[in-house]
Amino acid sequence: MRTSIKIKFSIFLAVLLLLTVFILSLLVLEGIKKDQQVQYEQYFAQQAKTANIYFMQTILAEANKVPQTFLTSKGTEFAEQLELISGQPVVLYDRNGTAVSKKISQAESDSIGRTLEFALNNKTAYLVENESLYYLAPLRAGNEQVGVVQFYFSLSGYLEFYNHIRQLFVYIGAGVFFLSFILAYIYFDVFANAIIRLEKTVDRIREGDYETAIIKRRDEIGRLSEGIHAMSAQIRKTMRDMEEEQEKLTLAVDRLSRLDQQQKQFIGNVTHEFKTPLTTIKAYIDLLEMYPDDKSLLETAKENIKSETKQLYEMVVKVLQLSALEKYDFEYNKEKLEVKQTILAVLSSLKGKFDKFGIRLETDLTEAYVEADKDSMSIVLMNLMDNAIKYNKAGGGISVKNYLKNNQEVIEVADTGIGIPEELAQNIFEPFYTVDKNRARQNGGVGLGLSLAKKHAEIQEGSVTLVKTNKEGSLFRITFPVYDSLKTKK
Ligand code: ADP
Repeated sequence: MRTSIKIKFSIFLAVLLLLTVFILSLLVLEGIKKDQQVQYEQYFAQQAKTANIYFMQTILAEANKVPQTFLTSKGTEFAEQLELISGQPVVLYDRNGTAVSKKISQAESDSIGRTLEFALNNKTAYLVENESLYYLAPLRAGNEQVGVVQFYFSLSGYLEFYNHIRQLFVYIGAGVFFLSFILAYIYFDVFANAIIRLEKTVDRIREGDYETAIIKRRDEIGRLSEGIHAMSAQIRKTMRDMEEEQEKLTLAVDRLSRLDQQQKQFIGNVTHEFKTPLTTIKAYIDLLEMYPDDKSLLETAKENIKSETKQLYEMVVKVLQLSALEKYDFEYNKEKLEVKQTILAVLSSLKGKFDKFGIRLETDLTEAYVEADKDSMSIVLMNLMDNAIKYNKAGGGISVKNYLKNNQEVIEVADTGIGIPEELAQNIFEPFYTVDKNRARQNGGVGLGLSLAKKHAEIQEGSVTLVKTNKEGSLFRITFPVYDSLKTKK
């Protein structure tokens, strides 16, 4: 393609210029021919006129003044005289067309024949034959034609000049053709290269490489290159958008299948966890049916059935809450909530538990306001503090403090409890996850508290995180968005 375009254009331009030179040369050569013709016509007209004047003068000087007789008798001398004056070979004819000066050859006479006829009819005529020009003009005495004077002229000088010019045009034409071909070839090479670059760009786009560079030119090729660049950018953007959409879709599918998996696991856990207390209750009821009068059995059964029922009840409540939080968008009653008072209220409801486990309480609380649903925030606090008591050591302590950071109200619950093994810490927010099932069950826990707390906090743009945990205890951090009076007024 490269060679063909360059050569085609170059040949076209060279031929065009050659044609121009050819037409120009035709016009110039034609002009030269016309000019030469005018020149020798004028020259011979003048020669003929001079010959006539000289003829009249000679006759007047003669004794015998009859022109015809003079011509016949002294034609040869007179012709010689004329040759001397004009510098051209001269032949004289009488009224009958017979040469009266020197003889002419038969061939010459044949070719001149018709021209001579014209001249004998009192007209000027000339004949151009090869390089020879025969100019024939009437010879007159007064108004009467007495003969014809013929001048011979060699056109070789004129023809030589004409041929020389023609030759020159041939050389110029050849030079113009080659030079224009070479120059055009060099010039079109730049175009061809630009087109080849465009072609390569298109090939790359076809192969999926959308990185294109613009060819900086102020012509159609430049604009075409800009167009291709813009088109490729658009394709790249569309592809990227499509890829992003596909990624989102994959993520959504993954999330859905994970959710599906979680849900199955959740149901499995619910079934399992419900079975345990129900089995205990059923066992005691069976025993009571078998031994209705056993007072001590009755007491033990009452205690166990009561505690299992309580646990079952709490579990039902939590499971229902959790699944409701997963499934539905609740209308939360978000309000301006004072943090210190909310924390104190939760702590006071847990006073019995604090006393029962002999846990010390330290607080560092300041008045602050968050925007949250009171019940949700209480559930979050209650679960974390309950855990801090449940998983504490005998004579251990809990400290609760709050402060403001990055427009978030932070509440920290630290305990001196048993801690969580580092490798298990990431699981504690999963529903039904417990580090030590027995210890959890002893304290009425089934592993739902933290997942419920986290869900409640996140739904209200807050968070629950485990900051640190070791054998000396754990530190949990809760955040809630600070109450913004301006936002509320809007
Ligand atoms: P549970 O109802 O068992 O308390 P949670 O979801 O509240 O369930 O907690 C999950 C598990 O995380 C608990 O079983 C316990 O092993 C561990 N855990 C939670 N809080 C603490 C804590 N403050 N100290 C030690 N372990 C904790």
